[in-house]
Amino acid sequence: MSETHTNADAAGGTAESLRTPIVAVLGHVDHGKTTLLDKIRGSAVTDGEAGAITQHIGATAVPLETVSELAGSLVDPDDFDLPGLLFIDTPGHHSFSTLRSRGGALADIAILVVDVNDGFQPQTIEALDILRRTETPFVVAANKIDTVPGWNPQSDVPIQESYDAQSDRARATLDENLYELIGELSDHDFSADMYWRVQNFANNVGVVPTSAETGEGVPDVLTVLMGLSQRYLKDAMAIDVDGPGAGTVLEVKDQKGFGTAIDVVLYDGTVRSDDTIVVGASGDPIVTDVRALLQPRPLAEIRTESRFEQVDAVSAAAGLKIAAPELDSAMAGAPVRVVRDQPREEVVAAVEEELAAIGVTTQEEGVVVKADTLGSLEAVADALEEAEIPIVRAEVGAVAPRDVTVASTADEEKHETVLAFSVDVLDNAADLAEESGVRIFESDVIYRLVEEYDEFVTERERSQQ
Ligand code: GDP
Repeated sequence: MSETHTNADAAGGTAESLRTPIVAVLGHVDHGKTTLLDKIRGSAVTDGEAGAITQHIGATAVPLETVSELAGSLVDPDDFDLPGLLFIDTPGHHSFSTLRSRGGALADIAILVVDVNDGFQPQTIEALDILRRTETPFVVAANKIDTVPGWNPQSDVPIQESYDAQSDRARATLDENLYELIGELSDHDFSADMYWRVQNFANNVGVVPTSAETGEGVPDVLTVLMGLSQRYLKDAMAIDVDGPGAGTVLEVKDQKGFGTAIDVVLYDGTVRSDDTIVVGASGDPIVTDVRALLQPRPLAEIRTESRFEQVDAVSAAAGLKIAAPELDSAMAGAPVRVVRDQPREEVVAAVEEELAAIGVTTQEEGVVVKADTLGSLEAVADALEEAEIPIVRAEVGAVAPRDVTVASTADEEKHETVLAFSVDVLDNAADLAEESGVRIFESDVIYRLVEEYDEFVTERERSQQ
């Protein structure tokens, strides 16, 4: 099923349609990303009479009718012609780091979740850097307002009304935190204000006080996302829905009965069960024939049956699982393209070009970098470049013995380090590192990897003096 409004002309010409904007949820760990997504999904399930939600692989589609039901007077469906919003389910690094500015984008728009009490934290700053680099429009959810002392939640009213109805003391406490947040945004070159005061969202970031726990402010977040999408993304959402599918790999994993499969967010065209696809990989792009397209079954149908059903075709924007031979070396964050109207060499070349654009420059000597997705690899590489730390090898995937070998060989400057971002270290790699004196630094926070490496170098220099 697609969330597209199709205007195929009667003569059978191309089916121009507007696709659903794809939304990523970003922010520091524990600030409430998962709870917010659950709230959006949960309220859409209970309140959404008209369209409710559709569960995808790795994503949840909330149709416009449901957004407008949730948002009440805030959203009049007649004012919008985009079909709704598609939320990427895996919040945090995994999704934000695969936001991309070149080639196809994984997400078109984002929610940056910030705990109002905790303020800016390392992953908040990393998320902002990526939003800036990818020029992705976003809204800030200033979350956990229910924990403000004296806060008295109001149900079913816009957050501005709730804010106005609070005691002076509660509002003063929240204001203090909100202004600090707005100040932090401004320190990072984003002019921001409370969303109901923002006139021009192109130049100002809207801040929405929210409680992912009680749901206050959540409809307002959806409203701002719809408004931003309608105003700034509409042209980019026009796709030829019958064209060859294009998407981004979210995850590569084994699917019982099907072998290796990729979870994909499709942002253009259609993929069919008899298509040939090209997938970005750690080596040459993979060219393979689709074995099966899988989507989740409706909740009611899941008994002992598989959670997935095979479908004949899926159209953008959507999340799906593609099973096909030879997918083992596929990379999270890499492009997926259907071969249809174009010769396959051209599609392969296009995928190669997209991969090259996510460029990481390597040197003769330097540190080895491993990361969970292509996008995060690029983000780590950017941070290292800024810190003037050279990279000898950069790849997606767990830290394997050969990474340690590369890190240990012929390095005059003695970098001898593997930086592992959100990936496992294989046991035999850890053993080898121990034997060969190679350090492995692991973190889910980019700046900590850089910091740990810098500290190590400073320490070593000090001990050599
Ligand atoms: P994530 O790491 O950003 O996905 O954060 P989670 O959604 O897992 O939330 C971290 C913790 O904060 C959990 O214990 C949540 O229940 C809690 N939490 C999230 N949002 C709120 C909120 O709006 N109010 C309160 N009081 N707690 C929240």
